Amino acid sequence: MTIKPPTSGVRRTEWPASTSRPVVTPLQPSVVYAAPDPDALDAQYATGSGFTYAREGHPNAEVLAAKIDVLEGATGGIITGSGMSAIGAVFLGCLKAGDHVLGGDQLYGRTLRLMTQDLPRLGITTSLADPTDAAAMRAALRPETRMIVVEVISNPTIRVADMAGIAQVAREAGVLLVVDNTFTTPRLYRPLDHGAEIVVHSVTKLLAGHSDATLGYVAARDPALREAIMAANVTWGLTPSPWDCWMAERGMHTFDLRFERAQANAGRLAEALAAMPAVARVIYPTRPDHPDHNRATGLLGGQGGNMLSFELTGGRAAANAFTRAAPEIAFAPTLGDVGTTLSHPASSSHRNLAPEARAAQGISEGFFRLSVGIEDADLLIAEMTRAAAASLG
Ligand SMILES: *Cc1c(COP(=O)(O)O)cnc(C)c1O
Repeated sequence: MTIKPPTSGVRRTEWPASTSRPVVTPLQPSVVYAAPDPDALDAQYATGSGFTYAREGHPNAEVLAAKIDVLEGATGGIITGSGMSAIGAVFLGCLKAGDHVLGGDQLYGRTLRLMTQDLPRLGITTSLADPTDAAAMRAALRPETRMIVVEVISNPTIRVADMAGIAQVAREAGVLLVVDNTFTTPRLYRPLDHGAEIVVHSVTKLLAGHSDATLGYVAARDPALREAIMAANVTWGLTPSPWDCWMAERGMHTFDLRFERAQANAGRLAEALAAMPAVARVIYPTRPDHPDHNRATGLLGGQGGNMLSFELTGGRAAANAFTRAAPEIAFAPTLGDVGTTLSHPASSSHRNLAPEARAAQGISEGFFRLSVGIEDADLLIAEMTRAAAASLG
């Protein structure tokens, strides 16, 4: 009996050589990168070039970051393991105990939780103010305020923040303005062009677009902040998987097309819903009855995006009937997927708020948020028409 050498099956083979190159970005799952000798490794560390260990960076994250950089007008963007880890890396990299952070009062639910429950444990104080009112944001500043965090379009009430006013408040106070651009995407708004220091994304949503990769992105204007955020990303282990980056890059090839189509669908659905007897109101930025219509028109260049909310005339029973009568529209708490998704804040994202607090935000039992996808608009309208009729009982 022959005994196999112990390295058999372990030793790595060479990649087959080819003069022609693949047209698709190769997926590189390697966790480690072997260097020729200590001098070469030393030089690589010294220049910060190349790859050594996947938590510290890998080609698929770099390729994806460069793609989003182009859209956001950024340089040196960083990919993180989720949208929340992008926000976490910003906080961990830029704040210290004693700092204060001012947030918009309708931020994404987990961001609100991070600010109100987790940052205080680290000695960082936080408060919230209405981002549609720059004077209210200014009034909430403290001497120790280091950062303002806002989203351009609020979730789920689709209010549009006074970005110009807030940028001015931040500039005058010498405070970092951080914008979560997930809902808007660079197709509607580019925060770095309008006074933001840092832009973050949940790439999971519209940019990747297929609900099959969880990722985040962050870019900072100041290289020192960029280094601090990257260090937090690597040290706290918030970095992404190559596979997710590869999937997201693939999704991004069609981002423009998907966005155009979803936005056109949303505009048509907004009008169709507004004409339905079962619908009390529709909130969509291009509609003249939107509470921030004039500001939205200027800020978003007359576009409305793919997100809209509406309220049924009935309560929870009507909401149940509506979702049951629209089986083609996934009742799922996400957004930005190729397929239209429907969410009901009172039973999901806002279920822990007291009914009075929900009412103050205009979120009733008949309130729905719709993330419009790229399906055929006529089929979507037919489905919604049937569901709205069913909600009348
Ligand atoms: C989804 C979302 C996040 C969090 O992103 P994940 O990828 O789910 O971690 C942050 N901000 C906004 C506005 C979001 O919609």
